[in-house]
This record gives sequence, structure tokens and C-alpha cells, in this order.
Amino acid sequence: MAYDAKFRSEFVPGRYRDLVARKAVLYPITAFDQRKRPTDARVISATLKLVDMWRARTLALRDHGWIAAQSTGSSKKAVDFMRNCRPNFVSMFPRTRPCSNRHVCPFCFSRGAATVWDAVDSAFPDTTLPENARRVRGVREEQSPPPALGVGERRGRTLTLAQGKTRMAADGVKRTVIPVAERVFPYHLVTMVSRSTFPTRESLPYLVDSVCRTRGQIRDMIPFEGAVVCTTVEGIKSPEWVLTHRYLMMVRPEVDVPDSFLNQAFYERDPHPTRRKVMNAVARTCRYPRHLLFGDPGLTVRVLHAIRGRKLRAMYGSFRGRGR
Ligand SMILES: [Zn+2]
Repeated sequence: MAYDAKFRSEFVPGRYRDLVARKAVLYPITAFDQRKRPTDARVISATLKLVDMWRARTLALRDHGWIAAQSTGSSKKAVDFMRNCRPNFVSMFPRTRPCSNRHVCPFCFSRGAATVWDAVDSAFPDTTLPENARRVRGVREEQSPPPALGVGERRGRTLTLAQGKTRMAADGVKRTVIPVAERVFPYHLVTMVSRSTFPTRESLPYLVDSVCRTRGQIRDMIPFEGAVVCTTVEGIKSPEWVLTHRYLMMVRPEVDVPDSFLNQAFYERDPHPTRRKVMNAVARTCRYPRHLLFGDPGLTVRVLHAIRGRKLRAMYGSFRGRGR
């Protein structure tokens, strides 16, 4: 009889990297209603639901010939190991090990999304304190000239401030705060999505190969400071292969983006990328390809074999070598 750990929740972590993981993976898969308050109880129950979904999927994929799930030679209990992958989103007992099937296991996939967030977050200027500082009623002061640096930044970051009204605010200490819309950020946030479909008679390994070879060309098209490109591959029952590339870039304000990108679906350029906006953008960029979990298992196995050992996330510029 297969061994299944009985997970018990310990606590729900609330760092930005945990939020990114939940927004990128848990919420879209479990149809989590984000308009309601994400209470701990709701997050825990969604996570346990996802554990069940993933366990059921591992068996279906094994039965359709997924190599990684076959019990052969040294990995006799491959499926058991996957089924007991350490859940993310909620800290759980018992502490099992991550299964490292980062393309398909929702927990390992989301750990990758949190790592992307770490890298992107450490490159973007931090604006946390000015965003969160509460205004003090009745205290208002004009300051001239405005301070050269944003308040509450980490060392080594720069954030130039526009000329404009400043307010006194407090988060324990009195601070000068400039509203987000009046600040000049040293970088803009650019996001976009490009999607292409191919009939399933096309060789999927060949398609994935050409993606991995050519995605770096983005460096010649846009002079960004940092970029991350996340590719997902899904088999949809039309039948066709759907390759989706999601881009997130940090660009200087004076940089022009070529027209071919401006016309892409979901193209967005934000001149005021606060930490929360960057977080939401990373969550969208690292979104889990839900067809791998819900679509035809035979097609999913073909996808998994084609992307096996591939890196489907690429980091460029100042996003590289950051994070943990
Ligand atoms: Zn896993």
C-alpha cells in the first residue's frame, strides 16, 4: 500500500514571496476567490485540496507512461515520493522533501516562482515604507527642496523624487512621504505575453529546442536592465501545442519598446512600479500552466517528456545571480 503523509498545517506564512507563490499557482488552480479575504483557513483548505489533486494526477500520469513516475531500478517509489512532496503555501507537518519536478509539481513550481520574485525584488528599488506609511492627521508641511532619496530604502538603492508636495506621515517615526503618482521611479516595469499554437503533428522537442535557442534574442530588441522570460508548454485538446512566453522587464524611463511588442496582448508599461505592483506582475509572469494538471494526461506526458531537463525560465541582466 502506498504511503501518504497526513499533512497538518502549522502556520500560513505571509511574506511577499509566499504571496507570489500563492497568486501564481494556488489561486488559479483551485479557483480561489480573491475578492474575499484570504483567511488562513481558506488558504489551508485550498492547499490540502491541491495536495489531493496532485496525488491523483501523479497516478494518471504514471499510467500514461510518464518516465519520471515509473518504478524502475533505483527509484522504486518514484510516485510515492512525488505524492508526498512538501507542500508550499502553508507550513505543514510532517516535513517531507520537495520532489523537484519543477515543471509540473505545483508545489515545486511555486517554489521556483518565489525564487524569481527574490531576484526581481532585489533588483527593483524598494518603496515599501513610503507605500505603507500612514499619514498623520492635521500635520502637513511643505518642504523645499524635497529630499533627494526615498525614505526607507535599502542601502544601495536609488529612487529619485519629483518636485511636489510632501506630507508628514508616521509609522512610529515621522517621515516625509511623497504620493506614488508624484514620484519619479528610476525604472519602469514592462510586462507582456506572447502565445503561439502549433498542430500536434509538429515535433514538440524540436519546438522547445527552438524556444530555448531563440528567446535570448530579446536582449538585442530591448535595452532592458533586467528581464525574466517564463515559457510554458501545454497540450490542448484541439489538438494543439500552446507555447506561452511571459516577459517581465525592468527598463529605464527613456527606453523605447519596439512596436512589435507594443502590439502584443497584455502589453503593459508601468512608470510607478511599487513593490506590490512588481509582486503582482511576477505572480502573473510565473503563472502555473493549469492544463498540465487538468488536461488530457496523454498530452501532458508528451509535454513533460519534451521539456524534461529544460530550463523554461530565463533571467537576464540585473536579475541574474540574485535571489537565493
Ligand atoms: Zn514537488
